[in-house]
Amino acid sequence: MSEYAKRLLAWFDVHGRHDLPWQHPRTPYRVWLSEIMLQQTQVRVVIPYFERFVAALPDVPALAKAPQDDVLALWSGLGYYARARNLQAAAQRCVDLHDGDLPRDLDALVALPGIGRSTAGAILSQAWGDRAPILDGNVKRVLARRHAVEGWPGTPKVEKTLWSIADALLPHTRMADYTQAQMDFGATLCTRHNPVCLLCPVSTDCAAFVQGRVDELPTPRPSKVLPEREVTVLLLEDRDGRVLLQRRPPTGVWAQLWSLPQLDVDDDPVRWLQGHAAGLVDPVEFDTPARLAPVQHGFSHYRLRLHPLHWAGLAPHHGVRDNDALRWVARDDLATLGIPAPIRTLLLAPRIALED
Ligand code: SF4
Repeated sequence: MSEYAKRLLAWFDVHGRHDLPWQHPRTPYRVWLSEIMLQQTQVRVVIPYFERFVAALPDVPALAKAPQDDVLALWSGLGYYARARNLQAAAQRCVDLHDGDLPRDLDALVALPGIGRSTAGAILSQAWGDRAPILDGNVKRVLARRHAVEGWPGTPKVEKTLWSIADALLPHTRMADYTQAQMDFGATLCTRHNPVCLLCPVSTDCAAFVQGRVDELPTPRPSKVLPEREVTVLLLEDRDGRVLLQRRPPTGVWAQLWSLPQLDVDDDPVRWLQGHAAGLVDPVEFDTPARLAPVQHGFSHYRLRLHPLHWAGLAPHHGVRDNDALRWVARDDLATLGIPAPIRTLLLAPRIALED
């Protein structure tokens, strides 16, 4: 048995979870159901759902023939309902192909809806004691630290390395306990943010600990490079310090908020003013706006870079009557309107023109 498995099992005997409802009895059906429920959901939340579910649908054939509404009602509150639908579809497949029970075979298990390789490993090892590794998020984290595996574990290359490590560490006995030990160890001791290395049974051969790199591993998911969009915003101020605001359309980003008139960087601002603010435009007065420093704003799917053009000292109410889409707003009234944060920052910041 690997030194890792030996120490982990000794830790599990003292600190692990031994009284979970799916451990008594540990049938393939109960292990499978618990594994699916535990995806995205914590143990303490799952327990009452699990107990209600197996009380109503105690085995694969019962699940296979239950009305789908009943299955979804038993799942109600756990979320991610595709899990429940897959569960029932897999149960029906088991009735058709495997005599109403789960197959004791890795390939046949992963062929069922909703069962990936790690879930299949958990079922095989816990239900039958077979030597099959698991590699859920907890195990990936622990192995990436213990073996100082570089790279985000979500990439196929890193995942492959972790699978081969998981495979090499498997003990020849106590597979059910070993699988549970790995889950408990990752959930309670080698946690994502606060691993308790000083109490860890495998710290002496944990590469991340020995090298002082626990905070760095596993390598985080690379941040997405977001596309950037550039727009021009028009900041027009009259002699009383009022600014011209435009209401955003009812859909899209900043829907219905008050913002600065916004146009594509290629659009001609004077022409835009002629079109949208009749009478506002005096070609002489409007030819030479000051360019202010750009403002950046991040949305979840792109970055917006605003290039403000600034005109000051316009005649009060020059050219635009308040309407639903455009309005002169006194500085003191800005606080009463819904204005996007970067626009508010821009309105309140000192106006410093860029040098040409
Ligand atoms: S020493 Fe720390 S980082 Fe390494 S396995 Fe133990 S708890 Fe995790």
